[in-house]
Amino acid sequence: GETLHCRLQWVPLEEGEALLLVEDRTEAMRLERMRRDFVANVSHELRTPLTIVRGYVETALDAPTPLPPPLAGYLEQVHAQAVRMQRLVEDLLTLAQLEGTQPPPAKWVDVGELLETAAAQARGVAPEGLTVEVDFPPQPGAILGVRTELESALGNLALNAVRYTPAPGRVVIGARAAENGEGELFVRDTGIGIAPEHLPRLTERFYRVDRARSRDRGGTGLGLAIVNHVAQRHEARLFIDSAPGKGSEFRLRFPSGRWREGEAVK
Ligand code: ADP
Repeated sequence: GETLHCRLQWVPLEEGEALLLVEDRTEAMRLERMRRDFVANVSHELRTPLTIVRGYVETALDAPTPLPPPLAGYLEQVHAQAVRMQRLVEDLLTLAQLEGTQPPPAKWVDVGELLETAAAQARGVAPEGLTVEVDFPPQPGAILGVRTELESALGNLALNAVRYTPAPGRVVIGARAAENGEGELFVRDTGIGIAPEHLPRLTERFYRVDRARSRDRGGTGLGLAIVNHVAQRHEARLFIDSAPGKGSEFRLRFPSGRWREGEAVK
């Protein structure tokens, strides 16, 4: 009862002849699904033990009698690493879900609310001297899509902007109409920027320009892979403009059928 997945390719030859190539992709798709499920299962199994480790460490750190100095330092390290692993596990689960499931039904999602949610998230982690602004169009409108996925995409872009922008600096999260009824969400920063040779690979899982820097800033290496999947599920395109030492702008461009200006209908 399994579906057969085939890839068809039409190859024109000379004298009016042609070849029809039929490639059986069933086994390849089955292996891909196994890989996805395995990652999702492992991530899920790691959730509970991580929560427990973190819980005990927090209890120990909050103990009424303060711990002797070297011990407190060690425990703080354990805590930081547990938090980091939790972030990784959550991102892996998000990615597995985006790769392996059909999107839930699309609804009109208020653009103004999306911008404010991402800005609040970014402000929560922005250091002193890094301002996070929202750039509202006159009529923010709405996007036809999945709210949680759009929030996660814009949130990841906003967190990256904060992560890779030293203070003093500026992050702007906004929306604008584009040509032919299309529209885009954007996140702009005055940060370290990205050299052109890295751009094509940026949305690959675990691809980072500077591994140590990403890790120090709490990155998982999965943010842009998540953004890219959300974009695909919304028929949106991801554009990146960046200049090393000046800053970056990430844009998610939505087709006219998914973008509406004016008052949002909830
Ligand atoms: P990470 O968790 O490492 O930030 P991402 O997938 O979100 O992983 O991003 C991949 C890499 O792209 C980052 O490690 C960083 O090198 C680069 N990057 C992403 N956003 C920005 C930005 N706003 N400015 C500069 N570099 C960025």
